[in-house]
Amino acid sequence: MERQFYKVVTIFLIWTSIGWFSFPFLVRASTIAPDLRFPRLLLQATVVALLYACAGIITLILGRYRTTKIQSEKLRQCPQCKKRIRADAVICPYCLTELDTE
Ligand SMILES: [Zn+2]
Repeated sequence: MERQFYKVVTIFLIWTSIGWFSFPFLVRASTIAPDLRFPRLLLQATVVALLYACAGIITLILGRYRTTKIQSEKLRQCPQCKKRIRADAVICPYCLTELDTE
């Protein structure tokens, strides 16, 4: 769930960044603004694109870090239903068996 959230946010930010990077070139290629001051637009769009790219990289790292933290959580097997549960669980979330804490 949380992993999915980070993934979606990262993809959105990177996608927006690519959009900002390509925006000045698309405007120049089209005939929307013939008297366009291209270098200025390129600079501004690149700054915005870099901000989005940085935010995307931060969420990517954050998502990676949090994911590995969740994965490294110790698991054990429920003696009753044999499902994998957290090692520090007091009650099995599947079969509600009381477990002896180690
Ligand atoms: Zn169980």
